Amino acid sequence: MITSREYDKPMPFQPPTWAKKITAEHLKLRRISDKSLEYGYWWIELGGVYDAIRDNEQLRFELLSIVMGIWDYVKNSGKFPNAANRVLETIGMVPGRRDTYRLVGDHVITQLDIEGGWKQFDDAIAVGGWPMDDHPAEGFWASDRRGCRQIHGKQPYYNIPFGCLYSKKITNLMMAGRNISASHVAFTSTRVMSTCAAIGQAVGTAAAMCLDADISPARLRADKTMLKRLQQELLRDNQTILDIKNEDSRDLAPKAKVTASESALESKPENAISGILLDGPKTNRNRWLATAAAKPWLKLEWNAPVRISQVRLAFDGGKRRLTQTGQQSVIKTMVVGVQPELVRDYTITAILPDGSERPLAEVTNNYQALRVHTFDSVNAKAVRIDIAATNGAEHAIIREVRVES
Ligand SMILES: Cc1cc2nc3c(=O)[nH]c(=O)nc-3n(C[C@H](O)[C@H](O)[C@H](O)COP(=O)(O)OP(=O)(O)OC[C@H]3O[C@@H](n4cnc5c(N)ncnc54)[C@H](O)[C@@H]3O)c2cc1C
Repeated sequence: MITSREYDKPMPFQPPTWAKKITAEHLKLRRISDKSLEYGYWWIELGGVYDAIRDNEQLRFELLSIVMGIWDYVKNSGKFPNAANRVLETIGMVPGRRDTYRLVGDHVITQLDIEGGWKQFDDAIAVGGWPMDDHPAEGFWASDRRGCRQIHGKQPYYNIPFGCLYSKKITNLMMAGRNISASHVAFTSTRVMSTCAAIGQAVGTAAAMCLDADISPARLRADKTMLKRLQQELLRDNQTILDIKNEDSRDLAPKAKVTASESALESKPENAISGILLDGPKTNRNRWLATAAAKPWLKLEWNAPVRISQVRLAFDGGKRRLTQTGQQSVIKTMVVGVQPELVRDYTITAILPDGSERPLAEVTNNYQALRVHTFDSVNAKAVRIDIAATNGAEHAIIREVRVES
């Protein structure tokens, strides 16, 4: 990764003697834009035909010589007039690893799994959603091929099975992140950061359960009751798993009648207790929306009073705006900080059997997608959530409400 800075006068560049000589032929399928020279280039990569760990130093110096050659091309080929006043400012000196060792688990996730086979997994624990994104093994030197080839599945998301998250040979070793048990092609999708994070959530939860029950991850997977508990525990913590519904017996919300002051964009109050967190990127069946300016409320009411001590709210964490980049055109589109869709200010109130109200929580400046409110247990016939403001979005969104005793 490199960045450059604009100065107010021409800044010449003389490459070191060890810089590679880069030509238009090397770059015929790799784009450098004269309009965006401040940051680059994910396709300066090597490693697939080396040992990405043992050959690290050799790779670092070869990458550096390519970087210097590319900057020489940018500055001195005459093709980039906007580069005249630019100076190469930073160069990442620790090579990042896109593809490296993985461990073999009880299941090896493959391209076929991602393309539809995921529906057969009993042990789904997280979703992936990046296309399969294969980079040529020769990296930059594969100038006759594009820097990557992206294969989009028919569906935007797929489930990842728990069988990929622990070693087949070492009974107490689990994998969280890009080292999970995956074929090279499946790995090109599972390796992205959000997916690694969701896998980490599953491994952490499973590890705690294994410790508690004094069993191995393989035993947990073989035990249908434990596996179901793992999935339910993950859903409760706002993990997304396709086709697995909230069936947690602790949750009293599904037994309630849900009403709201209003519902926007064809959503319904019941969506907040549907038990499904994700049913498609463009549908509203898994969330309730209302106009924030109208200070909307959502109410759960039971036939008979219930004893409650916890309310869990899953909000919308926002669109995919934040990314790590030095590219100004992308930075301009980001909302750096709390995402506007997140509900900012709200209160939770219990309505007691005699009709009086008791405040359970008052929140200002919320910035989190999952909020868990625990309080002294109270006998309530209803719970109301009053929303005063979002962090800027027109609609307040609640994806899920859970109420526990
Ligand atoms: C150039 C490049 C661009 C990428 N672009 C994107 C992108 O745009 N979006 C995206 O989502 N993903 C991207 N990726 C992929 C993504 O960054 C990685 O796959 C992901 O960060 C891997 O996370 P991880 O936790 O599995 O591994 P890592 O982040 O590598 O974490 C492993 C950690 O273990 C530590 N460690 C290693 N050995 C030991 C030891 N013996 N003891 C203690 N600690 C140890 C390491 O120091 C490291 O901190 C990119 C990768 C590269 C290289």
